[in-house]
Amino acid sequence: MITSADEALLRRAIAVAAHAVTLGDAPYGSLLAAPDGTVLIEAHNTVRRDDDITAHPELKLARWAARELTPDAASRTTLYTSCQPCGMCAGALVRSGLGRVVFAISTEQLVELNPQSGAWPTIPHDGPALLPEARAPLDAYYLS
Ligand SMILES: [Zn+2]
Repeated sequence: MITSADEALLRRAIAVAAHAVTLGDAPYGSLLAAPDGTVLIEAHNTVRRDDDITAHPELKLARWAARELTPDAASRTTLYTSCQPCGMCAGALVRSGLGRVVFAISTEQLVELNPQSGAWPTIPHDGPALLPEARAPLDAYYLS
């Protein structure tokens, strides 16, 4: 359930996205909030500026949280973001241990607004293979 307090922080994330546009960056913004609503950090998409396909704001905040917060503190934060996190960022958010994500625009809505946003190809995956060889470094790490 999205509360009025959530909406206020979501509006701030949208403002971060709007500010990104004024800087020439892509229109995506996020922030990470403590349980009392204190904004811990904000970020916007800098894919073009940094020439870095991973420079999504959600990923930046997930990395920051994993580096700067204890697991307990991270689990009590909420990420507010102008658009639903992509698959790359969703994975990083799980790894970072953040407690909750609140987004304004869903992926489906984004694709309706900008069809190029959903034009990601599927990459073929082949595997598993070579288990005995591939498990050797795992065993060396985890079983020693
Ligand atoms: Zn992303």
